[in-house]
Amino acid sequence: MKKNIIEKNILKQCDLCARPILVNRQNSGACEHCGWMNFEAAVINDDRILLPNFVSFKRAKELHVQGKALKPSFNEFIQVLYEYDEMEFVHNGTVYGVIRGEAETGNKIELFIVGVKDSSKFYKDYNDFRQNAEINSLLLSKVWDEVTDVNFLQ
Ligand SMILES: [Zn+2]
Repeated sequence: MKKNIIEKNILKQCDLCARPILVNRQNSGACEHCGWMNFEAAVINDDRILLPNFVSFKRAKELHVQGKALKPSFNEFIQVLYEYDEMEFVHNGTVYGVIRGEAETGNKIELFIVGVKDSSKFYKDYNDFRQNAEINSLLLSKVWDEVTDVNFLQ
């Protein structure tokens, strides 16, 4: 049988939760138990956020020990947004999208309710977004603990 190098067929212990997972030959693979995307660079650079993980390996270990989900803090979310321009999150059942806008328009960061027309608010830069982003008339920074399902924009 011919071996497929893309196939995830090597058993290893998840770097984070130590449960058995299947990885490819580059030792990369997502853990279905804890959600950590295993790849060596993320462990070597353990204080950096390396996509597709939304937190550093150091933070992931802290969260894992506390039994918490691997959800980025608000500041970490903004770092991820800096790396990847289209994100989404859920608050009270509503899905919000965040997109880094076109520089020419001067509207750097757009926050909107997914599927709702004319729901966009614009922020001029990351700092403006960090300080002033609002959902449902609430400062996003203040209600971030209630946010769930942070992901790339689907
Ligand atoms: Zn794991």
